[in-house]
Formats: sequence, structure tokens, C-alpha cells
Amino acid sequence: MKRLATAILAIALPALSAEQPNILFIFTDDHALQAISAYGGRFEKIAPTKNIDRLAKEGMIFRNSFCGNSICGPSRASILTGKHSHVNGFMDNDSGLFDGGQQTFPKLLQKAGYETALIGKWHLVSNPTGFDHWEILPSQGSYVNPDFIQMDGSKKRVEGYVTDIITDKTIEWLKNRKDKTKPFVLMTQQKAPHRSWVPAPRHYKLFDGIDMPEPPTLFDDHSHRIEALKKQEMTIAKHFSWGLDMFLHGKPTDPRFIGGLANGEYARMTNAQKTEFDAAYGPENEKLLAALPTMTDDDLTRWKYQRYIKNYLRTIRAVDENVGRTLEYLEESGLAKSTVVIYSSDQGFYLGEHGWYDKRWMFEESLKMPCVIRWPGVIKPGVEPEAMIQNIDYAPTFLEMAGAAIPADMQGKSIVPILKGEGKTPDDWRNAVFYQYSGENTHHVARHDGVRDSRHKLMHFPDTKEWMLFDLEKDPQEMKNVFADPTYSAVAEKMKTLYADLKKQYAANDSNLPMHRLKESWWKDRWVVKNKEVHNSKDAKIVFLGDSITQAWEDTGKSAWDKHFAPLGAVNWGYSGDRTEHLIWRLQNGNIQRLNPKVAVILIGTNNTGHSQRPAAETLAGIRQTLNDLSWKWPDTKIILMSIFPRAEKADDPLRQLNDEINEQLKTLVNGKRIHLLDINAKFMNDEGTLRKELLPDLLHLSPAAYDIWADALSSKLNELGL
Ligand code: CA
Repeated sequence: MKRLATAILAIALPALSAEQPNILFIFTDDHALQAISAYGGRFEKIAPTKNIDRLAKEGMIFRNSFCGNSICGPSRASILTGKHSHVNGFMDNDSGLFDGGQQTFPKLLQKAGYETALIGKWHLVSNPTGFDHWEILPSQGSYVNPDFIQMDGSKKRVEGYVTDIITDKTIEWLKNRKDKTKPFVLMTQQKAPHRSWVPAPRHYKLFDGIDMPEPPTLFDDHSHRIEALKKQEMTIAKHFSWGLDMFLHGKPTDPRFIGGLANGEYARMTNAQKTEFDAAYGPENEKLLAALPTMTDDDLTRWKYQRYIKNYLRTIRAVDENVGRTLEYLEESGLAKSTVVIYSSDQGFYLGEHGWYDKRWMFEESLKMPCVIRWPGVIKPGVEPEAMIQNIDYAPTFLEMAGAAIPADMQGKSIVPILKGEGKTPDDWRNAVFYQYSGENTHHVARHDGVRDSRHKLMHFPDTKEWMLFDLEKDPQEMKNVFADPTYSAVAEKMKTLYADLKKQYAANDSNLPMHRLKESWWKDRWVVKNKEVHNSKDAKIVFLGDSITQAWEDTGKSAWDKHFAPLGAVNWGYSGDRTEHLIWRLQNGNIQRLNPKVAVILIGTNNTGHSQRPAAETLAGIRQTLNDLSWKWPDTKIILMSIFPRAEKADDPLRQLNDEINEQLKTLVNGKRIHLLDINAKFMNDEGTLRKELLPDLLHLSPAAYDIWADALSSKLNELGL
């Protein structure tokens, strides 16, 4: 019977594949729209990107294309999953790894009959999953003589320039595909034009003698907006390093540069490569060193801008040449007609606007993502859709192109109707995009989220509870926050409503946005200790996850713990004062997935209630996210979800009632097989619902006797589950 099914499948696939286009996703890192001539901008004539422009001319160019979180890893995770960062779990580049066990579009395309491959920059820490072939740069990778991690874990160094080599490997893979009857999806992911902007040697002198145009906001003083803008560390004037960014040798001789970061790419060069590099940059460097002592701050900023922008645009010249080379190969090989080609980049970038380099902020330059798509015979060439699209849309789009079903939990929308519909915006299309940056140590940009519609942008800064509102029509450079301007009060209200609506739609609230407490030293210390403990507890059969009530198994509840759970090698992941968002952060960033317990006991949420009386639905979203994370990490582990213990003396206390309300909703999360609800709250109360003070002396935490009660109830439940 099984053989018969395989035979039918084998017959069905080639027929199906005739309808399924190949997908070539050419993806760069930090390529801003204003550096692609098809999008116009100040480099249109001086540094054209003729091959990307050709794609735009033969396909569609999306001018309202946005990321959801303007940093490298998170944007990539959103592309793979079709979900915003807080749902796919990859919030920032500082912490953790992408959970490759979760649903991604390459895995679904494999099931739909596609051969899948990824070559180049990956940057999601864990190894790629869902690809029949991959070859990736380690972390950020190198421009010069780059290393590639192979599927067997070994590393291979290739001499040459990274953009050329990734393209070589792309073409090689296309030539040598194993099964040419299968459609393919190939993700060619370039390092360029990411910092530190080292060009190919053939482009070292490109743009020499040319003064690159400056943006009008190069000397933005960041006034008329919130103070957080002045606290970032990503200015051209003050935050470029002597070696890494400016290609100067030795130690800084001028305090207006950052020291410390050497030019690591130079260190990778062979002697011959170093000679070529020094011949190109040496004379200009010497001129600068001579002029520095008397150079004004503004003149030095201008010099840094020129050095930066020329190198950035030089790396893009190599990208564009290689796009051309790839398109040529598609023509030669006959693949062009059956292959959708997409050019995109993980987010935008500041090319001196607001005085900045880098990304992160929700301002236009880094919020926007290039998106150019050529689909022969389907897309009407030269069309420029108005629709607002986002990185979460790629996964559902690729699935629809392949004729595969789009899972309901993907948050993006397929843009295929736009591609097929001559660029017309579908009636049910979104009218705004949601954005969320969770903060990183790098560059000190305050965490914020917000919404943008076709005219206005609202940003929210939760740490200072501040808002910024911009009128993109009257103030396209975003120089003036009009949130408190009375003439914008109606707009502000409208945008706040939109913000609340989108947060609800995307299930984004404080309870399910991962958050750490590393600034509290005891918490940080516990974090280190607990991760070490996991390392030494591989055979743990049971893991406890929660807040202080779980943590206190270590003292108040110790005798019950020793009797019931220590023999099972139990691990205690309770942290006093934690709310759902902290537990989620710990699950997403720690090493707990090294364990494979039979049971996890979860008790979390009472601090969501106690600290700020959050609505029950929000706390529930946090608990749901916790379960979701665990379902990827431990698919076979049974979950005992504890009803949140009662708090406050009397049953009509608002905090007690809020916990009751959450407990009622917890029932919706239970499925009989994996997730089991355990409610022992009645044991802690008298008949009329008042708390028994001998069990909860401070009306929140348990006494030793109460831990005995909980341990007994858990032991019965474990028995019931056959464990
Ligand atoms: Ca990036």
C-alpha cells in the first residue's frame, strides 16, 4: 500500500511542478532603498544599480515595502516564518538562536515538492532547517576570503570576494541540481552591503574624485523629538571607529573616532591583497592624518560621510554586477521564464540621514525594505503597486506561488493577488503596518514599537512612556514630533486606536513580548547558575517553570521537593517576580531545549496581575506563547499547566478575581493529549473562599504545608499520566 502511494506521488509531482515556478530570492543585508536607482534618490545618476533596475523594469517594484523589526536576524526569521518577531521568538541579535524546529516556508515548500537551498549569510545562530542544501557564512561572515560552514559542520575558506563567491556558489548549485524535474527555491543571501563595507578590490577606486551628495539631515540635531534620539550611538560624527569603519591603521590620533574596533577584514587579507588595499586607501588616509589637527568637526563629519558612503556604494556595485551575472545565467540556462526572481534586503539603512549610519529606528530609511519581483508571464512589467507590504508577507507569498496551503497561523498575507492583479491593491488589504524593535546593547537605540499608515506614523517608547507622531506628507524627513500638537489631536487618537488594533491583531502586548531582567544582578546571577544546572541535568524527567512560588521549592518547599521531585532529577526554573514575558525570554534565550523532560509544570501569571493588573486576555496571550515555545522545544513533553493560585484574602478582591478570570480562560489552552490543567485552588481556601492563612501566610506565597499539598496533587497527576 505504501509503495503504491509513493508511485502515485511520483507520477503526480512532475505534473504539479509544471505549474510551480522556481523561486530565486536574492537577498542582501542592509541595502537601503535610497541606494537603488530604480527607487530614485540622490545616488540615482551617480551610482546606478542597472541590474536591479532591469528586474524592476521587467517586473514590479514595491515602494511601500516595510520590515517589522529593523535588524538582520529578526527580519530573516520573519521572512522564514511569516510571523512577527515576538511570535517566532527571534527578537534581536544579542540573545538566543532561531528555533529551527518551528514551521517555516522552506519546510512547507519541501512538502509541496520543491528542492530548497540557501547560500550565504544566515545569521540565525542555529543551523538552517528545511533546506536540502545549505552553505552559510558563520555569523556576520567576512568580505575578504570568507569562510563557509558546510552541512557537515566543517568550515571551508575560499579566497576572493564574498559577493562574487556567493554568486559562484549560486550558479554552481543551479547547474548541478540533483533532480531537475523538481521546482526549486534558492535563497542567495549576500553579506553586502553590511558594515564594515569592504569593497571588491576592482571597486576600490570607484567614485574617486567624486563628491557624493549629502542628505539634507546630515547635521540633524535631533531636536523637536523625544530625548531618546540624542542617546543613540550611531552617528557619523561621533560613532565611527578608526579601524573598522574608516580603514585607518594603528591607534586613533584624534578623539573624534572610536578606537578599539580594528579592521578585521584587513587582517584576513594576503600580503598581495594588503598591498592593493593600501595602495588604494593609503594616499587619502595620509592626507586625512595631516589635516586632522586643524579640521573642524563639521568638515571631519563630511570626510567620514564620504569615506562611508563611497565604500557602501562600492559594495553595492559588486552586488549589482552579481545580480546581472545571475540573471544572465538564468537566460543562458533557459530557467529565466520559469523562475520568479525577487530582490530584497532585510531592512533599510541610514546613509547619513539624521546624521546616522545603521538601522533600528522606525524612521523611513530603515523601516523600508527594497522589494522588486520579476515573474515572467504573470507580472505586468513596469507596474508600481501602492499596497503596503511587509517582510511577514514573503512566506505566504512563496507558498501561494507554489500552490501550497498557507497555514492560518502565519501573520503575513500573500502578495500573489497583487502580482497577478496588475499591482492593484486588493479590497481587503491592510492599511497600516506594525513595527516593533525590542532594544539591543548595540548603538543604544531605545526599544519602541508603532504603526505607519499611508500618511502618518506613530511610535511608542514603553520605557519612558513617550509617543512620537509624524506627518509623512508635510514632514517626510520626520524632523518634528507632532504628537502633542493640538491640531493633530484627532490624528493622534486615530493612530493610537490603530496601534491598539494592530497589537491585538498580531497578539503583541507586554505579556508575550520576551523581556529579560539582566539589569537586576541577582536575576542575572540566577540566569547563569540555572543555565549551568541545565547543562548538568540532561536526564531531568521534570522541569518546573514559573515565578517566586516555583523558586521557593528551593527553600520553603524543600522537604516536599526532596521527597517527590529530587529523585526525578527535577530542574527548578522559577524566578522570583517574573511575569510571563520574562519566562518567555528565558525559554527563548536559555539552553533549556537541551533537556527533554517527560513533564513540565508551569505556574505563571500572578505577577502580571499583581504588578499592573493586566487584562486577563493579555496574560493569557503570554501563557499561550509559553506553551507555543515549549511545543517547538519539547514536542513530546507533557505539560501540567497550573491554575494560577488564589491571592488576597477575600474572594471579591479585584486581584483574586483577575486571577480567576485568567484561570477560566486557561481552559481554552488545554488539549487532552499534551497539555493538562491542574487546579488545586480549592485546597487553599475555606468554604466561603477566603484564603487559609496557615497555607498562604502572606496571601500570595505558600507555606511548607501548602507545598506538601501541591506536591501530593502533582504526584497523583503524574501517576494519572502514567509517569
Ligand atoms: Ca541587516
